[in-house]
Amino acid sequence: MDIFAKCYGFTTAKEAMAAGFYPYFIPLEENEGTEVIYQGRRILMFGSNNYLGLTTHPKVKEAAIEALKRYGTSCTGSRFLNGTLRLHRELEERLAAFVGKEAALVFSTGYQTNLGTISALVGRGDYVILDKEDHASIVDGARMSMGVTKRFSHNDMAALERLLAALPPEAGKLVVVDGVYSMGGDIAPLPQLVEICRKHGARLMVDDAHSLGVLGPNGRGTAAHFGLTDQVDLIMGTFSKSFASIGGFIAGDEAVIHYIQHHARSLIFSASLPAPNVAAVLAALEIMLEEPERVQRVNEIGARMRYELRRLGFDIGPSQTPIVPIIIGDDIKTALAWKALFENGVYVNCVVGPAVPPGKQLLRTSYMATHTDEQLERGLEIFERVGRMLGLINPSTAHAEE
Ligand code: PMP
Repeated sequence: MDIFAKCYGFTTAKEAMAAGFYPYFIPLEENEGTEVIYQGRRILMFGSNNYLGLTTHPKVKEAAIEALKRYGTSCTGSRFLNGTLRLHRELEERLAAFVGKEAALVFSTGYQTNLGTISALVGRGDYVILDKEDHASIVDGARMSMGVTKRFSHNDMAALERLLAALPPEAGKLVVVDGVYSMGGDIAPLPQLVEICRKHGARLMVDDAHSLGVLGPNGRGTAAHFGLTDQVDLIMGTFSKSFASIGGFIAGDEAVIHYIQHHARSLIFSASLPAPNVAAVLAALEIMLEEPERVQRVNEIGARMRYELRRLGFDIGPSQTPIVPIIIGDDIKTALAWKALFENGVYVNCVVGPAVPPGKQLLRTSYMATHTDEQLERGLEIFERVGRMLGLINPSTAHAEE
């Protein structure tokens, strides 16, 4: 059997493209943050992770340009060998202080951070325990590890407790959850997680990809939001969202970070983050400290959009953050709604199986501190028009409660 046979037989995406229903890999011509240009048309961006709107902030761009001039375009090597700059160290010190941990380690992407951290820590005979809605990079890190992976139903603390109680007491255990779930926009129940992990001798790692810049004072994340910084063993973050760059980090006790630094294969065998990206994160971090009103604004916008979308009669699930899903529950209807919104001038993300279980197909909408009230009102008017046109809005279930 030719190994390529499956490729020649893979026509799903091409058929969707031919039918004009293909919502992925859309090449934008311009992206200035809250609005983008596609085929000469200006479209509202309600599908970005640029929560604080910092990707086009003059200070962030200037920092990246200065670093580019000084250090060039690439570090051309791994952190382990020639690819560590003083700038990486500076960022690690600042991030550790920002999230309230002893030490931090910078990777080239968030994905690699989860891969490297989990596979370095979870060895033979150990257990890694995941929420069923954890991000793919956590699942892949667990798969790459030599330990055993166990999963519990989303946010089901009783199920987690039963699972941990059934494991050998002497085995090493790492529980990994998302601080904010990337599709549902709901927050992990950290107080209960901390208590259950303590009781069963498990360490707790929180992926704060969508929480940094959004939750806690100055956007310090989920642990800070709950006042539990000392109780969370490892805090993971990405730079591809609020930090307006690319890359990721893990923060925790100095000894644990030192161990990860010398065992994470995705760190050791991959080139380091280029200086302009490091400098952009440093500048974004400074803005987060200086302008907490951005964090406040993105949360106010999130609350407003949850209220308005619910009031219109959309099902937004358990969202508590600026990630607000519109749950449609059917592949075709979700694709139709995505297309109608796109043609009417709103960009959202189309999420269908296998990314979500049957019945949970959704449009992922997400908001930025830099969206203007006028943009939100324009978007809501389009949501309402498309919702009515496609029969997605159920006026009888519409209510104005948060
Ligand atoms: N964790 C979560 C929860 C994410 O949503 C993402 C990216 N969407 C990642 C990790 C990976 O981060 P990156 O895109 O920086 O590789």
